[in-house]
Amino acid sequence: MSIKIKQWILNMPEYIPGRTIEEIKKEYNLKVVYKLASNESLFGPDPGVLKEIGRNLGNINYYPDGNCIEIREKLGERLNINIKSIIIGNGTDQIIEMICDSFIEPGDNIIISDPTFLIYEKSALKCNGKVLKVPLKRFHQDMERLVGCIDNKTKVLFLTNPHNPTGSNINSTEFGYMMENINKNILVVVDEAYVDYLDEEDRIDTVSYISEYDNLVILRTFSKIYGLAGLRIGYGISDGVIISALNKVRLPFNVNFIAQRAAIKALEDESYIDKIRGRIKEEKNRYYKVLNENRIGYIKSYANFILIETGKESDVIIEKLLRGGFIVRPGKNLGLPGHIRVTMGLPDINKMFLKKFLEIFKDAYSK
Ligand code: PMP
Repeated sequence: MSIKIKQWILNMPEYIPGRTIEEIKKEYNLKVVYKLASNESLFGPDPGVLKEIGRNLGNINYYPDGNCIEIREKLGERLNINIKSIIIGNGTDQIIEMICDSFIEPGDNIIISDPTFLIYEKSALKCNGKVLKVPLKRFHQDMERLVGCIDNKTKVLFLTNPHNPTGSNINSTEFGYMMENINKNILVVVDEAYVDYLDEEDRIDTVSYISEYDNLVILRTFSKIYGLAGLRIGYGISDGVIISALNKVRLPFNVNFIAQRAAIKALEDESYIDKIRGRIKEEKNRYYKVLNENRIGYIKSYANFILIETGKESDVIIEKLLRGGFIVRPGKNLGLPGHIRVTMGLPDINKMFLKKFLEIFKDAYSK
């Protein structure tokens, strides 16, 4: 091959995606497979949103609104911010990518926790940036070390709150400390993909920091509690100057028409979201109870998944779970060997999962 690929692209590691339901059905000859691996909402979207999707199918021959005006207006109203401070992405993944595309020059670095959501690293490497990694401290993001790691090549610091893959959470004192101690020429990105699962008292009012800190970006998504992961839509909030830079690299029709209609509808009635938050809490309690009774370690989660300690037999446990029709995320693919990350499913699925998991776990450690 005489085509030259950029060296830094060749050097990039391959992303290992979660296994799909169809793949596992085929491989293990199973009729029913449950995917509890990618933190999607098994409760699905609000039925009213599904109807809205159906109502709009007749218009998909047109390009969508490239500026996503209606949804930005809805969000602006709701969050009490100017629409110039809002950008909509094809999932928050795409906004992370736009951030790196806009701010990382070859040789610059980003700072992330280790482990964390993989897309920050992938997006920085794509720009020939470097990635400085700060180990978690007892499964929590270590604010002091994250701030301490900043050097003169640092452009962006990514924080994930609640954190993925641990489900841990930082509080407003920690967040305030970080914002105060970071020079305003460093962009701080707070990825709040799981914020909707938090109770009011656990939330940080990050949006209120936007007026004081023009170096802050907040990311949120419709992929989790809103149950719209397949449509790909998320948003970013920041100072208008930052948003206009992101808009320069954004492709004109980056968010499809159906995703826009669905998100607009979803924002009209939040009672469904409140209901799902409660249901997820009940399911996490179901897990905690079983794990506590059986003295199996886990991290208390503020998101819609739980990181469970499965120890040295993890590979065996994961394989047997697959055979039993359950896909979970192996911790070793996420930088946490000896663990699995399990997305909360519907009550009946969770009951079946816990029964199967206990059986397999006990068997693995009975010898
Ligand atoms: N951030 C975090 C921390 C996530 O876990 C995820 C989804 N796994 C995303 C962002 C991606 O969200 P989206 O579907 O909006 O791209």
